[in-house]
Amino acid sequence: MSTQASITVGKVVSIHYTLRDEAGAVLDSSGGGSPLDYLHGAGNIVPGLEEKLEGHAVGDRFQVRVPPEDGYGVHDPRGVQKVPRASFPSEIELEPGMQFGAEDEGGVRSTIWIQAVDADEVTIDLNHPLAGKQLDFDITVAGIRDATEEELAHGHPHGPHGHHHHA
Ligand code: ZN
Repeated sequence: MSTQASITVGKVVSIHYTLRDEAGAVLDSSGGGSPLDYLHGAGNIVPGLEEKLEGHAVGDRFQVRVPPEDGYGVHDPRGVQKVPRASFPSEIELEPGMQFGAEDEGGVRSTIWIQAVDADEVTIDLNHPLAGKQLDFDITVAGIRDATEEELAHGHPHGPHGHHHHA
């Protein structure tokens, strides 16, 4: 792998990362596992992080602080709603933090996060759980390569053997 390559639009980039919240608690990490692959310039990762990766090379280690508006967005209080327990399948034991896919009348898909559960009512949040949070990333660039035509057309990286799943 060339060490000359730097991160620009159209590169598939592999990064190791640790994500911490404002209090320093680890929220997510690639530690010990495979690096995260993303297609640079395609919006696969939060905009505030993607912007700061631009121009970096393999082996670079750095920290990125992303404010909510460049991360998962500000938290919209209108996204927090109470719905009847009966709107969920009764056989599922609901717990805070669970995630459901939903589709509105127009076929637009969204994710619903369970915030609280009581006997008759469930509090749901349509915001991403990291909405409103400052994100602190520790980044190590593990790899950079040119994206294939297919990857560019799809807007995301494919695995080493070209396998991937589409919804
Ligand atoms: Zn694809």
